[in-house]
Amino acid sequence: MKNIEWSKLTFGYSKTDYNIRCYYRDGKWGELEISSSENIPLHMAATSLHYGQEAFEGLKAFCGKDNKIRVFRWEENHQRMVNSAQGILMPEVPKEIFWGACKKVIELNRDYVPPYGHGASFYLRPLLIGTGAQVGVKAANEYLFMVFGVPVGPYFKEGFKPVNIQIVRDADRAAPLGTGVYKVGGNYAASLSSGERAHKEGFSAALYLDAKEKKYIDECGPANFFGIKNNTYVTPLSTSILPSITNKSLMVLAEDMGLKVERRPIPVTELSEFSECGACGTAAVISPIGKIVDSQNDGKEYVFSKDGKAGSISTQLYERLLGIQYGEMEDKFKWNTLVD
Ligand SMILES: *Cc1c(COP(=O)(O)O)cnc(C)c1O
Repeated sequence: MKNIEWSKLTFGYSKTDYNIRCYYRDGKWGELEISSSENIPLHMAATSLHYGQEAFEGLKAFCGKDNKIRVFRWEENHQRMVNSAQGILMPEVPKEIFWGACKKVIELNRDYVPPYGHGASFYLRPLLIGTGAQVGVKAANEYLFMVFGVPVGPYFKEGFKPVNIQIVRDADRAAPLGTGVYKVGGNYAASLSSGERAHKEGFSAALYLDAKEKKYIDECGPANFFGIKNNTYVTPLSTSILPSITNKSLMVLAEDMGLKVERRPIPVTELSEFSECGACGTAAVISPIGKIVDSQNDGKEYVFSKDGKAGSISTQLYERLLGIQYGEMEDKFKWNTLVD
């Protein structure tokens, strides 16, 4: 066991012993390679540096009370990385390579996987980048796929408490028919400045609206949005949202709990009708939303929590998902893969 204070972990980078790499050259993928270096040797004209040929994933492994490690829905992450690769003209990472690398990173860094009981987990970061040199705007002919892992604590240090969100009206994260549906770095570059402003003004994230009409809710920082009203779980349908696997799972759990599930455009004005709202993604699972402020529209406020507590449906969804991930509840939908 490593000398790590598991309960003090935050969601941030720390060094582990090994990462796994696999190169694509001459039209084919090579073997998995084990590396103990934190650096990548990279050609200065690599397309990932100049033309944004870069996609990534994020998924978690959890150590249960039984000391077994469960990886949550990795096949979904693989499929999404395939979609991202197709979207920006990179070669698809085969399933065996994706899983082989994730599994090896966990096994080789076993001592960094947080033991059960600290609310911590082992976050896996698969990365696919164009490494081949180009100066003209073209796809590379060489690529690197790699996976590293880091032990992480809960995303929010304060725990499962409502956060405040700021609507952005002077910037878009992604175009309606752009790359918003792919998990690529370019979308993040586009969101950094409004995210940073939201933080400076005391909010935990920026809420984007649809780029075309500025009428509907799109994405909530690096997370999907959902609202609850009349026993219904409502989440936006949009061509610029990254399909969150957490959201996909919450929709299943909501239905299982007897809620209706709707995926449709959500007008900003409908915010006043929700009894609960949240943002969801792998890092935090759910960030319950206490208040949404439309700063650039007369500072209009939508309040969902007055007592600093999360709503009961969001809380139940959160507990159910974590219960499955830690192996405390029945894995009814076969979402976990055991690493043994
Ligand atoms: C990764 C990501 C999410 C969350 O997806 P999960 O699969 O739930 O982790 C949401 N929005 C954006 C923009 C993302 O990049």
